[in-house]
Amino acid sequence: MSIVGTRQNPLRVAIVGSGPAGFYTAAALLKAGRKTGRLVTVDMLERLPAPFGLVRYGVAPDHPKIKQVIDKYVNTAQDPAFNYLGNVELGKDLSVDELAQSHHAVVVCTGAATDRRLDIPGEDLWGSHAATAFVGWYNAHPDFCDCTFDLSQEAAVIVGHGNVAVDVCRILASTADELNHTDIAEHALEALVSSRIRDIYMIGRRGPTQAKFGHVELRELGGLEDVDLVVDSKDLILNSASEAEFADRSTRENQKNLRTLKEFSCRPIGNGGRRLHIRFLESPVELGGDEQVNTIVLEKNTLKGEPFHQVAVGTGERLELNTGLVFRSIGYHGIPITGLPFNARRGIIPNEVGRVLDEHHHVVPGMYTAGWIKRGPVGLIGNNRADATETVNALLSDVDKSDLEIKPGGQALLPLLAERGVRIVDYTDWEKIDAVEIERGKTREKPREKFTRVEDMLAALD
Ligand code: NAP
Repeated sequence: MSIVGTRQNPLRVAIVGSGPAGFYTAAALLKAGRKTGRLVTVDMLERLPAPFGLVRYGVAPDHPKIKQVIDKYVNTAQDPAFNYLGNVELGKDLSVDELAQSHHAVVVCTGAATDRRLDIPGEDLWGSHAATAFVGWYNAHPDFCDCTFDLSQEAAVIVGHGNVAVDVCRILASTADELNHTDIAEHALEALVSSRIRDIYMIGRRGPTQAKFGHVELRELGGLEDVDLVVDSKDLILNSASEAEFADRSTRENQKNLRTLKEFSCRPIGNGGRRLHIRFLESPVELGGDEQVNTIVLEKNTLKGEPFHQVAVGTGERLELNTGLVFRSIGYHGIPITGLPFNARRGIIPNEVGRVLDEHHHVVPGMYTAGWIKRGPVGLIGNNRADATETVNALLSDVDKSDLEIKPGGQALLPLLAERGVRIVDYTDWEKIDAVEIERGKTREKPREKFTRVEDMLAALD
């Protein structure tokens, strides 16, 4: 046993997941090391060859500014104490125990990789999809590149009033000109260019004061080239509890949203190629159809409860929309990792300020978590910075209190992974893939043409 953080015994931390939470955790650890003179090394494991998680595979292609945060992650990756192990999956290529043996601490930052379900009849019919699958598809995520969406439909329905729902609506409503020079996957661009969708419905179960989308995102819908917005002014009348919410400073974003929605509701409906209907106080109760969805049944809601605790309650009044394409966009959900505790209801790893807790609520020594898998799928990319810092502070305070044995770090994993036939993609490899993608994009005047398959990324290295 010896003090950790010295040349003889550097603090060896493994981070699982290379999205925002993973990179903010790495940055916070390396910064703390520099500040305190403690020697820290970081091994970042990533299931896919490409890093950056939701920034690469979740942020919409027409939002390049949001993706600029990657520049900061690249700075972190340049640190000599940072080591990237791409194409390595925890729970499949390596066990949690193996990782814990080679490192003083493991920080799990695997995000929320799947979606929440509506649990209504017909949800599994063809034509009913998770918005997360559509997002992965247009962003060239290898898990979703073979998905197909029936864009020959005249109407598409998106359930949910969050920013993901707005992204899906905007991508469906955009013209080729609006998408052509983005990093959208080529297969998605081809399909969207010949889309026959004319009506897009974004359905929220509560009212405008409770909608989760941001004001910038809402306004952007109003600026789309060839889209008429359809908002019923009756939906914008607030009950007294919503009036009380509206008067509170905390709802400034919703106050701006309401003003914008009122402006949308006054716009004349012209001859736009597409109509985007933003609707409130409706919940899907059933999807009809034999093999493919052909209708969605909605129930009108009313709001009940105190301000800020209002829930949508069905009124019994139903209506039907004809559609063969439905996206549920009602939130992401984390998935369990073999060997780690998991709260299936919340889709998170149980934890206390980032320290992983077992089923008896006892801290699992050396095991930490950050990001959406720690706190659930809420917040913007930048929110993960404070979240990661909280976890790193807990980790460092634990390390300060203990004498820990010397750990070998990521080097010890290399023979194990080689034995298992895993082709590790290190950071230099990723830079090669990155350069090829950028080159491929040039002919189409796109920032990059992403690889959609892991095999193709690996082939680009040989
Ligand atoms: P979200 O913001 O949590 O929105 C989920 C929506 O689904 C809410 O309108 C919610 O309504 C609704 N919903 C939940 N359960 C439902 C049900 N059973 N039936 C009908 N509706 C239901 O989730 P998200 O859109 O997936 O976004 C996740 C996070 O990523 C958010 O923090 C978001 O801001 C962020 N994000 C940001 C951007 C951006 O910055 N441009 C882009 C994408 C995502 P209730 O309010 O009634 O629960």
